[in-house]
Amino acid sequence: MTESRTILHLDLDAFFCAVEVIRDPSLEGQPFAVGGTPEDRGVVASCSYAARKFGVRSAMPMGQALRLCPGLKVVSHHGGYGSYSKKVMVLLDAVTPYVEQISIDECFIDVTDIDAPANTVARRIQRRIQDELRLPSSLGGATSKLVAKIATNVGKDRAQTDGWPNAVLIVPPGEERAFLAPLPVRAMWGVGPKMAERLEAQGIRTLADLQCLGDDALVARFGSTGRKFHAHACGIDERGVEPGGEAAKSISHETTFAEDLHEAGRLHAVLLRLSQLVGRSLRDGGLTCRTVTIKLRWSDFKTITRRVTFRDGTDLDHDLYRAAKRLFDNAWQPGQRVRLLGVGASQLSDGGQQLSLWQSGDDRDHRIQAALDTLRDRFGGGKTRWGQELNQRGFVAEEDDDAWWEADA
Ligand SMILES: [Mg+2]
Repeated sequence: MTESRTILHLDLDAFFCAVEVIRDPSLEGQPFAVGGTPEDRGVVASCSYAARKFGVRSAMPMGQALRLCPGLKVVSHHGGYGSYSKKVMVLLDAVTPYVEQISIDECFIDVTDIDAPANTVARRIQRRIQDELRLPSSLGGATSKLVAKIATNVGKDRAQTDGWPNAVLIVPPGEERAFLAPLPVRAMWGVGPKMAERLEAQGIRTLADLQCLGDDALVARFGSTGRKFHAHACGIDERGVEPGGEAAKSISHETTFAEDLHEAGRLHAVLLRLSQLVGRSLRDGGLTCRTVTIKLRWSDFKTITRRVTFRDGTDLDHDLYRAAKRLFDNAWQPGQRVRLLGVGASQLSDGGQQLSLWQSGDDRDHRIQAALDTLRDRFGGGKTRWGQELNQRGFVAEEDDDAWWEADA
């Protein structure tokens, strides 16, 4: 039950910047931003706390950031952040097996079974990550994932420091509603800027407003989402921490483009190729999947994931592609610039006993798939062909096997 759980949410503070400080300690305390130069890609991916004092924010054009903070040092996006992220997860796995990673720099930890106050556990974890990996972090704690994550953000906002926030904020059991009440609606996990505007246009500005409106009134205005709003505004969230998370139980392939793509034809071609790579990994592992996820990073570095889950499993390229394309077409506005595209498969199981039943997934489909695999093996599929296909179309792409999926938030 809700009251009996203690869940921590951990967020590494300005993660890309913290890694860059490890690489170049002279950056410590300096106003700097990780991202593209104004001449090149021109967007802030992450910025130091010294830069934030000048109003620099992530996803801001680098030119604007330099106008706000003329002394800003621009550090190029080196990549390789995934290996630091993995070190944090390895450290946490030694604390408890109940860790669910939700993005490259965030995870949930269920510490219900640890016999110490949540605040003590959180400070211990924070100190170990700082001492052993030299990465600052902030933690929130509560009886649910939802409130724990919001607590992290509130703790960071309240941190009385010019440097790394290193915040810890625990919401005691029974105080969830009171804690959430004064917060603006956009503080709620899952309420994006557009939904926040819609709510504010109806005079709903704080979570207290949502709490007061009640279930029925919200359902009348927002349908089934309204019910979720009301529950979440009251701090009710029964979702459990799923150890391992999606990252450990999924197969994914993603591609970052040297230049952003904005044409449907090209983007669909990339989706098809990624779906084929995922399909091949499934078949090589004797697996089927029930969930297909796509990951999209826009030109401003904002990243979204969308997923769909089916009743039966599949390992066929065309099933994966059909699902990925539908998700993509729903998420993408024609002309919108895309920096990164990924396709993932999860809810995996051993494929042997069940063939695909999604559409026409019968023996014939599997025979065709096997023949295609043989052809690709013989005539060089995989990365070689990928590069050639793309070069012929006049652009290049790199494949990144170090794929991390962010949560649908
Ligand atoms: Mg972070």
